[in-house]
Amino acid sequence: MTPAGRSERLEELRQNLAAVEERIGAACAAADRVRSDVTLVVVTKTYPASDVSLLAELGVTDVGENRHPEAGEKAADVAAPLRWHFMGGLQTNKAGAVARYADVVHSVDRAKLVASLERGAVAADRDLEVLLQVDLGPDFDRPSDGRSGAAPTDLAALADAVAGTQRLRLGGVMTVAPLGVDPAPVFERLASLAQQLRADHPGATSISAGMSGDLEAAVAAGATHLRVGRAILGERPSLG
Ligand SMILES: *Cc1c(COP(=O)(O)O)cnc(C)c1O
Repeated sequence: MTPAGRSERLEELRQNLAAVEERIGAACAAADRVRSDVTLVVVTKTYPASDVSLLAELGVTDVGENRHPEAGEKAADVAAPLRWHFMGGLQTNKAGAVARYADVVHSVDRAKLVASLERGAVAADRDLEVLLQVDLGPDFDRPSDGRSGAAPTDLAALADAVAGTQRLRLGGVMTVAPLGVDPAPVFERLASLAQQLRADHPGATSISAGMSGDLEAAVAAGATHLRVGRAILGERPSLG
């Protein structure tokens, strides 16, 4: 990147970040919540490592990625100390590699994946926080949009599987609101599932919900982690 290009992009990211901060602040105020209870995870998928470094310069502490090996390459390229969140579909055979660089995995939705992440974390001698991804959509079996997640009725068993590992720590739950529906009841359902989970797993306090288009509804429902991409980095090419 040329120095001019770099400072232009830095300015753009600074402004977008400020606009998102303002939205989060307003949503917290409306919900009578404190801003420090909400973590902003900036989703940098499809954008270059140079953008991740600029975000770190602007004070961002948490970044999210959804593909391996893209995520691992960026984590290796960026010198700044960041928390790396992996979200999105994860094949069992890639879980070991992801366990080497991710700090949090938001997309744990089946027991096999728990076992693979645990093997990877043990091999890498690291602790890994995991969130259970729940599918709260009406049409769970529609294949084309790549949605994933466990059924709400599978959560308790999945949580027990995580609790039975050495190196995985159960952080909480995550969902992606289905397209085209009011996200508020979806996020409220997620919060109530999180509350049930905490009865047996009191440390599972994280609720990962809310993206560029619906972060206000997520904050209102009690989300602790927002995953925001487009509103900060710009629109992705359609494959992103
Ligand atoms: C891409 C992505 C996001 C960010 O979505 P935006 O609409 O860009 O804010 C959040 N969560 C997951 C799982 C994603 O894949």
